[in-house]
Amino acid sequence: MAKSPPGLYRGRLAPSPTGLLHLGHARTFWVAAERARRAGGKLYLRNDDLDAVRFRLDYVDAMIEDLRWLGFQWEEPMVSQSGRRPLYRAALEKLHAAGFIFPCTRSRRDVAEAAGAPHEGAGADEPVYPPQFRPPAGAPLSPLEAIISINWRFRVPDGETLAFVDKHAGPQSAVAGRDFGDFLVWRKDDVPSYQLACAVDDAAMGITEVVRGADLIKSTFRQLLLLRALGHAAPDYFHCPLVNDASGQRLAKRHDALSLRALREQGRRPEELFAEFAAGLSKP
Ligand code: GLU
Repeated sequence: MAKSPPGLYRGRLAPSPTGLLHLGHARTFWVAAERARRAGGKLYLRNDDLDAVRFRLDYVDAMIEDLRWLGFQWEEPMVSQSGRRPLYRAALEKLHAAGFIFPCTRSRRDVAEAAGAPHEGAGADEPVYPPQFRPPAGAPLSPLEAIISINWRFRVPDGETLAFVDKHAGPQSAVAGRDFGDFLVWRKDDVPSYQLACAVDDAAMGITEVVRGADLIKSTFRQLLLLRALGHAAPDYFHCPLVNDASGQRLAKRHDALSLRALREQGRRPEELFAEFAAGLSKP
């Protein structure tokens, strides 16, 4: 990646090619593109294509075509996560050597049963990993070679309050071990987790501000821990409110009627969409 002058704004669009982009993506990416443009900075396109099960090549093509239709411009080449495994693997080795991670043979079901109902906190998106399932702190770790068949988790600093000031949503905080627990960094099918790949890439790409949907605020706490453990400074974060459909439901990839494709076929123009976004979100 080309080096840019210190202080230069560097943002990114990071779609996953697991479905068609919809109106919610368009709004988040419009905010990201506007913020990069106003700052006179650079914008990158990162293709989050690590999910081999849901990944489809035609979705990559569709995503690029839709982003071009919206008129966005980004620095070439596009960054594809599937081509960056050595980087993630190096980060995993670093975390392993420093004792931040441990192997976990428990199933999702074991975890859900032992954890009980998720705590109603800022990070309540998955059950908190039961501490009794952890190996004792400082216990000798199995070698990393075992990664091909074992999940590896990050041991969170229990009781520590993680905080950041979101550029859109304001002050955010969560308590490690209460609002979220030990989380996956590498999956037993030999794939880095989203949290690890995202933290590694945001640092490696020199991203200065992450603009994304508010559903990922809870992931930010995990990424802050990873960035710190890997010795990287954290970027700024700007989490956009989610776009809901007419019945108040959050937009998902299954809302095909609101896919950018469908809107384009209905004759909608990007300028109209942007005008609506600008009217609805006072602070891009
Ligand atoms: N690829 C992720 C998604 O589509 C977004 C990751 C991010 O912006 O950090 O949900």
